[in-house]
Amino acid sequence: MENLLIIGSGCAGLTAAIYAARSNLSPMVVTGTMPGGLLTTTSTVENYPGFPEGIDGYELMLRMQKQAERFGARIKTLQTIEAVDFSRRPFVLTVDGEKIEAQSVIIASGASHRHLGLESERLLEKKGVTYCATCDGAFPAFRNQPLVVVGGGDSACEEALYLTRFASEIHLVHRRDSLRASKIMAGRTLSQPKIKPVWDSAVTEILDVKLDKVTGVRLKNLKTGNETVLACAGVFVAIGHVPNTQLFKGVIDMDDAGYIIPKKGTATNIPGVFVAGDCSDHAYRQAVTAAGLGCAAAIDAERFLASQGG
Ligand code: NAP
Repeated sequence: MENLLIIGSGCAGLTAAIYAARSNLSPMVVTGTMPGGLLTTTSTVENYPGFPEGIDGYELMLRMQKQAERFGARIKTLQTIEAVDFSRRPFVLTVDGEKIEAQSVIIASGASHRHLGLESERLLEKKGVTYCATCDGAFPAFRNQPLVVVGGGDSACEEALYLTRFASEIHLVHRRDSLRASKIMAGRTLSQPKIKPVWDSAVTEILDVKLDKVTGVRLKNLKTGNETVLACAGVFVAIGHVPNTQLFKGVIDMDDAGYIIPKKGTATNIPGVFVAGDCSDHAYRQAVTAAGLGCAAAIDAERFLASQGG
C-alpha cells in the first residue's frame, strides 16, 4: 500500500516528490514515457530562479530527480499508468499491468505537443516532421538546409533560435502578423538574420508523402487566400500543448480543453486526489509555477493523509 503515488515526473511531479519524501511519505513516482517531462527537450532554461547563467533542461530535471531520491522517493522509470480506479480508497492504479493501491494520488501528468492535425503531418512524423528542435535539430538531413518552424509563441521562437546552429535559414510560419512570445524572445528571434517570418499563414500540407520525406510545405495566406509552396528539409511544429488527462476523463472534473479544474488549492473533486502543473494550468505554464504547484500538492496530500489518521 502506497501513501502517495505521483503520476508524472516533470517539474510538478518531482517537486511534489521532494516535498512528500521529506515528509516521510516515501512517495512512488511513475514517470510515464518521458522521464523528466517536456523540460528535458528544452535547451537552456534561462528563467528558473537560482541559475543566473541558465541551466540545461535535462540537467535541471536530473537534479530534481536526484533530490527527490535522496529523501526516499521511489521512481518507476518509463512505466505508465494504464487505468485508475478512484471510486473508493485505497485507490487502485494499474501500472504496466501491475495493480498498485494508494491512499492518495497527485496527478502531474503534464502536457504534450499539439499537432497541426494534417494527414501529411502524421505520415511524415519522424521523417522530417518533428516537435523538438533540441532532440532532432542536429539530424544530418537538416544541416545547411532551409527549415520551417510553425507557431508564434515562446516555444516556436526557442525552436527557431536553436535551429540557427544547423539550418541555412528558418522560415517561421505564423497564422497572425505578430508573435505571441514574450518580448525578449520575440526580439531575439526577429533580429536573427537567419530567421525569416512568414506572417498570416497556415501550413495546409506537408510535402512530400509520396517521397516519404519532407521536401516543403504548402502554405495558405489567411488574408489573401494565396497558396504557395515553400521548400524545406524539415518542419518543426511548436504550436502549444494539450494536457495529458485523457485517462481521467469522466472521473476528474476538467474543462472542455481537458485541463483539470482544481477545487480548493490543489484538491480535485475526488478527496485524496490532487493535481499540479501543466495538466491543470493553461494560464502560466512555466517550470517554476509547475514546481510551486507540485510543492502545494504535496503539502495538501500530506495534510489529507494526516486528517485520515495516516
Ligand atoms: P503558446 O504560447 O500557447 O503559443 C502557441 C502558438 O501556436 C501561438 O502563437 C498560436 O497562435 C499558435 N497555434 C496554436 N494552435 C495552432 C494551430 N492549430 N495552427 C497554427 N498555429 C497554432 O505555446 P508555447 O509557445 O508552447 O508556450 C507555452 C507556455 O510555455 C507559455 O506560457 C510560454 O511562455 C512558456 N514557454 C516559455 C519559454 C521561455 O520562457 N523560454 C519557452 C517555451 C515556452 P496564436 O498566437 O494565433 O494563438
